[in-house]
Amino acid sequence: MISADVRAAYKVTIGIECHVQLKTHTKLFSAVNNDAREAEPNTLISHIDLGMPGALPVLNEKAVELAMRAAFALGTEPQRFSKFDRKHYFYPDLPMGYQITQFYDPIIKNGQVTITVNGQEKQIGIHEAHLEADAGKSMHPAGKDYSLVDLNRAGTPLLEIVSAPDINSSEEAKIYAKELWLRMRYAGVSDANLYYGNMRFDVNVSVSKTGELGTRTETKNLNSFRSVERAIEYEIERQIELLERGEKIVQETRGWDDAKQATFSQRSKEEAHDYRYMPDPDLPPVVLTDEMIAGVRENMPAMPQAYRDMFKGLGLDETSIEKAVDDPRAGEFVKNILDNHGEAHAKRVALWMVNVAEANDETGEETEWKLSAENAVALSQLVAENKLNSTAAKEIWVEIWKTDADPLALAESKNLLQVSDEGAIAEIVSRVLADNPKAAEDIKNGEMKAIGFLVGQVMKASQGKANPAMAQELIKKQLGV
Ligand code: MN
Repeated sequence: MISADVRAAYKVTIGIECHVQLKTHTKLFSAVNNDAREAEPNTLISHIDLGMPGALPVLNEKAVELAMRAAFALGTEPQRFSKFDRKHYFYPDLPMGYQITQFYDPIIKNGQVTITVNGQEKQIGIHEAHLEADAGKSMHPAGKDYSLVDLNRAGTPLLEIVSAPDINSSEEAKIYAKELWLRMRYAGVSDANLYYGNMRFDVNVSVSKTGELGTRTETKNLNSFRSVERAIEYEIERQIELLERGEKIVQETRGWDDAKQATFSQRSKEEAHDYRYMPDPDLPPVVLTDEMIAGVRENMPAMPQAYRDMFKGLGLDETSIEKAVDDPRAGEFVKNILDNHGEAHAKRVALWMVNVAEANDETGEETEWKLSAENAVALSQLVAENKLNSTAAKEIWVEIWKTDADPLALAESKNLLQVSDEGAIAEIVSRVLADNPKAAEDIKNGEMKAIGFLVGQVMKASQGKANPAMAQELIKKQLGV
């Protein structure tokens, strides 16, 4: 471990490349199913994906539309002219001998993403983002003397988002990665399921205390926000330790060993490829008209920041806001309630969502959600009218979330409705005061602390169904305070 003083002398510079798998039905250049999750190896392939001689790629229009949406989600607009290039290298999972990508004229340039770190806003530049086809998968069975190749993934459409080197800590990197994840989901560009590798991050890290950029390493294929943060932390420490010992950083590609929580060297610059980029003669340029761009712009859904602002307006704290925006459905749901039923209902529903609903995890897989706005508001109304206390309301919420049952009928069947009948509560209060003369005396003497205890006793005697506000009023009334 290096000391905090030594570490503080170094400036950390980080750039991130993120591969996003686009939510299309078919591959980027062939009419083959793009969902390989359940498929047997090498069943989702065509002559185009295999690079058979004479096979000609045909660009998937949907992939272009999703890239256009991504441009708006990244704070810019798509380029009117872009085209495809060949990136040559040899690997068994790349049958064509080259990857089709956009090198010279990418579809997205000069975007920006705002992140909030410790309450401070920071802009991260998007250098460019380009469309490209994924390669297949190589597998190396343990203890065997052969490798296997599965080409189901070959030709899957990807958008590679390249940030400017504007990131200066592992925390900023994690927040930026998560912001991309949110925006790609809100924009409907990707399922962004990290478990299935729908988003993969490559992090370029360098450190320097001279003011000039240091030699960087690239750690590839990180598939969780946590591993992005950990891998960067590891690289920062490793690089500073080397420099402090007077050694040099080797520019290289590294991998991340999740079990060891460490990066490891994969290949150095000497082994780096010359990709011999050249325009792909099989594919015409992509030319977007103003009308096409305007059409996508008009249909862009709201981005997470709009919902953050809404939740903030409802009085949610920072942690709750971040939890609420994790599920793109939540903001829309609460906005509908806010617009049509007012702030009090919207706030109650937002808080139930954050505190009670099953949290969405990093897989981006969405929990089952049947609840309608009508029944959410009906539940909120029962609380507003003191017919349900907050504990009972949460119990109802958990159920109607999945069933959309009528909250009043459910509360009745579970015997959870509060007693707001003044006569019935007054009777219980009299009994409680008679049973607790000491507490009653304290209150008469102005020691109001005891009132909470007595309300608790009333709640207990009513099996939790008394309206606590009314109980408190009646206690005061009967004691004449
Ligand atoms: Mn790439």
